[in-house]
Amino acid sequence: MRFRTVKVPVSREEKLRRAREYNEYCGEGECPVDPEEFAGREAYEEYVDMKCLGCGYEERQEADMVLECLEMEGGDYPRSYCPECGRPDMVPKDIYEEMKGKKKAKKARK
Ligand SMILES: [Zn+2]
Repeated sequence: MRFRTVKVPVSREEKLRRAREYNEYCGEGECPVDPEEFAGREAYEEYVDMKCLGCGYEERQEADMVLECLEMEGGDYPRSYCPECGRPDMVPKDIYEEMKGKKKAKKARK
């Protein structure tokens, strides 16, 4: 893959909230979880830092969502619409820097 994902630990509050939510909606045959025990487990959320090629707007998006888009659209990297300027120019920050870096290198050669 040409871009990195960021792993962010899920906060204790968030884990407690999820455990309570799970218990609230858990169906028959499913065991409720112990919120304290659940909060003690390691849990990570994966994100991709995206940046707009047009206006430089940055946003951290859920990796699941980004990778799903990539799978559907194909190509080397995901590209999505920028909520700031509306152009389809949101790309992973690594790709952004790669592209901007290439441009700079071209200019330097002249
Ligand atoms: Zn933009």
